[in-house]
Amino acid sequence: MKYCLDCDWSASAVDDPSQQRRSRAAIRHHVETGHTIDSSDGTVRPTVPAVSDALLVRDLGPSSD
Ligand SMILES: [Zn+2]
Repeated sequence: MKYCLDCDWSASAVDDPSQQRRSRAAIRHHVETGHTIDSSDGTVRPTVPAVSDALLVRDLGPSSD
């Protein structure tokens, strides 16, 4: 499937069995919104492990540099 990293847009084989149409839809979404499209071999959006949330929060915190 293809999915957007910036919003909940996605296109999977469930939505449209044509990979070519999904690719076009993904490109169109990127052009229209400037959002970043990623893709996965699975049929659902990959889930982010909980540990990544902790890392993300840390990364967003004040820098000690
Ligand atoms: Zn988007």
